[in-house]
Amino acid sequence: MYRALHVSRTSAIALLVAVSSVALAQYSGSAPVSAQFKKGFDSITQEDCKKWLEVLAGEECAGRGTGQPGYQKAADYMAARFKEFGLKPVGDNGTYFQQVPFERRRMNPEQSTISIGSKAIKASAGFKLDRLRGSAEASGPIVFIRANGNGVSLPQADEIAGRIIIAAIGPDATGIRRGLTRSGAAAVLFVTNEAIDNDWIFGRQSSGQGNERSLQGRVSQKCANDIAKAGGVSTEFVDLESLAGETIELSGTSQEAKLVAKLEESPVGVPNVVGLLEGSDPVLKSEIVGIGSHLDHLGNQGGVIYYGADDDGSGSTALLAVAKAFSKNPEKPKRSILFMAFCGEEMGLIGSGYYSDHPILPNDKMICELQMDMVGRNEQKDNEKPEDNVDTIHLVGSKRLSTELHDLVLEANKQVNFKFEWDEEDVYTRSDHYMFAKVGIPIAFVFSGFHPDYHQPTDTIEKINFEKIANTGRLYYLVANMAANRGHRFKIDGTG
Ligand SMILES: [Zn+2]
Repeated sequence: MYRALHVSRTSAIALLVAVSSVALAQYSGSAPVSAQFKKGFDSITQEDCKKWLEVLAGEECAGRGTGQPGYQKAADYMAARFKEFGLKPVGDNGTYFQQVPFERRRMNPEQSTISIGSKAIKASAGFKLDRLRGSAEASGPIVFIRANGNGVSLPQADEIAGRIIIAAIGPDATGIRRGLTRSGAAAVLFVTNEAIDNDWIFGRQSSGQGNERSLQGRVSQKCANDIAKAGGVSTEFVDLESLAGETIELSGTSQEAKLVAKLEESPVGVPNVVGLLEGSDPVLKSEIVGIGSHLDHLGNQGGVIYYGADDDGSGSTALLAVAKAFSKNPEKPKRSILFMAFCGEEMGLIGSGYYSDHPILPNDKMICELQMDMVGRNEQKDNEKPEDNVDTIHLVGSKRLSTELHDLVLEANKQVNFKFEWDEEDVYTRSDHYMFAKVGIPIAFVFSGFHPDYHQPTDTIEKINFEKIANTGRLYYLVANMAANRGHRFKIDGTG
């Protein structure tokens, strides 16, 4: 087996780029892998990692946004690989998917209206309310406001409170804009040149909170003109284009208006991908080693794709490498191994939180959880250069609940030889393992550190250090095996 060449650190990057198709193994200076794990260990290659990540961080998966079509493509791809590597489907109804409940909501554009006198204008004509948390109604006299400039002051409170306001506000008049939303108006609609849509918005299940005090939203120029006409006011009064200088005008009418916003919500399931390798020991197989990554990233945001090659395409790739290694090794682990690729991590650890609340196998049978999140880059920050971080990775949280787990990771690493850094970035609570630590399960989290492309559309595959992903897979393959074969469970000697 080929060993990493001893090269100076600055030339190592050039070498990695130039020979990225060559399968390098452990880092220089590492101990040989024990015979019982070697076949699986040697099955982990950079070529496989590259092949898998090209899909996960590619155009089809479009950044794997939870609830977006690209996420489902990634989940299907992971499930197909889990099947290829002989994992048992332990999700819902014999599938690899544990559906996590989310919700989509929108203001119904046909059933939401603003009525003035006998005239009812539908939201589909061009208005919407923002941050709507439930269906709502507001009624009161309709008032049109036209304002521009920073120096103008808000009208009297009694001219606004309890009214439905249609406001054409110039770009400089941010003070007026803010003031109006806090004025006690029943509703405020700001005229805008931007396109208005009432498309479905994907989110967490409703927290059950009510609407903010006054309803706020936006109305297109064309729809504002219709409302002005119905209210008996000149369309010039709500015209954004003609706003100039320092001005504020109110046009009260005696007309009463009624705003009806009908919120629609429907549940949407998004899967965690889960597969089990059953242990070989008739007794110990009821206990499990959990290993996870998050499959989701930020997805498509207004047409901009956040590919998330490192975050966390890299960890999900390493997860596949570990699954493949177990499938290739003749000697099977005594305890079972549960592979988990979570959804909703970027939205606040939602998929993993759902798992630990609704465990597929009892939480008290999970002896540890091993997490990989961002394991494919060379850390870059003010005082650390990427070329000095080719073979570094942060080992986070492994001592918090069990010193024995921490020691086991250090022992396994002798065969890979990462240079460990620790939790200098204070990320212990910032990935899925934390949801397991919270219920008392010892965890270890590996993370290769931050870089300028973190949470940017530029977190793309050509910047990935595939040797690091492969070595993360090798390390966790060993850790999972050694944990699964231990005589006793990890002794808990910390509080998390
Ligand atoms: Zn992230």
